[in-house]
Amino acid sequence: MTPLPLLSEPEPPRGVAHPVAPGIRRLVAANAGAMTYHGTNTYLIDGAGGLTVLDPGPDAAAHVAAILAAAGDAPITRIFLTHGHADHIGALPALRAATGAAVFAAREGLADGARIGGWTALATPGHAPDHLCFARDDGVLCSGDHVMSFASTVVIPPEGSMAAYLASLRRLLARDGDALFLPGHGPPLRDPRGFTAALLAHRLAREAEIRAALTAGPLSVAQLVTQLYRQLDPRLRRAAEASVTAHLGKLEAEGEAVRDGATWRRAVPRTR
Ligand SMILES: [Zn+2]
Repeated sequence: MTPLPLLSEPEPPRGVAHPVAPGIRRLVAANAGAMTYHGTNTYLIDGAGGLTVLDPGPDAAAHVAAILAAAGDAPITRIFLTHGHADHIGALPALRAATGAAVFAAREGLADGARIGGWTALATPGHAPDHLCFARDDGVLCSGDHVMSFASTVVIPPEGSMAAYLASLRRLLARDGDALFLPGHGPPLRDPRGFTAALLAHRLAREAEIRAALTAGPLSVAQLVTQLYRQLDPRLRRAAEASVTAHLGKLEAEGEAVRDGATWRRAVPRTR
């Protein structure tokens, strides 16, 4: 498999927001980990009526205090949520209580294509069923955990859906004019189209590998991971198993793979 053009960066300064695009600052929460990199990105976005906070981040008093300090005298009037995972919305109750801001999220009824203050919500399910990206008319797109920069996105069934995830990658690739992705974890992506295309190619290659491995004989998820993932960080083994399971679920739905207890095999083509 071709390696992904993943980005890395030194540990960002804690508690301080840094400009990443016109009118947008990034504040990295202190929840570093194998799945979260240096931490969840919270974005503070300037707007006519006040600030918008995109993804309040994890439930951590210090992070909420840093958001409020970064806002300074500007009122926080809106909160955008890319999806409902705890590392993105844990701080929501405290931030909402401190600001009274209006919340815009799929779980709050925000629909695909909705426009709020120059931003458009884009339904991008896959990593999470409620995932939204938020696109600004000038080519900045907050990609949440749908497209990250430091790693490929983990799709964990049953909540995560590989078929939906691939369709959502294709949806972003079909757009014109996106110049910068601001992801939920990791530094900004300045070649969003190239990176998204590489993510899609990576997934399709993985799917082809799984199909080929099963053609040789039935395998369990653990056996597939051992066979397909070389030099896997042990901390990421469960994520790899989840990804393979997600691929298998897609192949099963497409009639290409069948589960027999703990093992999977290629579907025998139906004869009439
Ligand atoms: Zn996340």
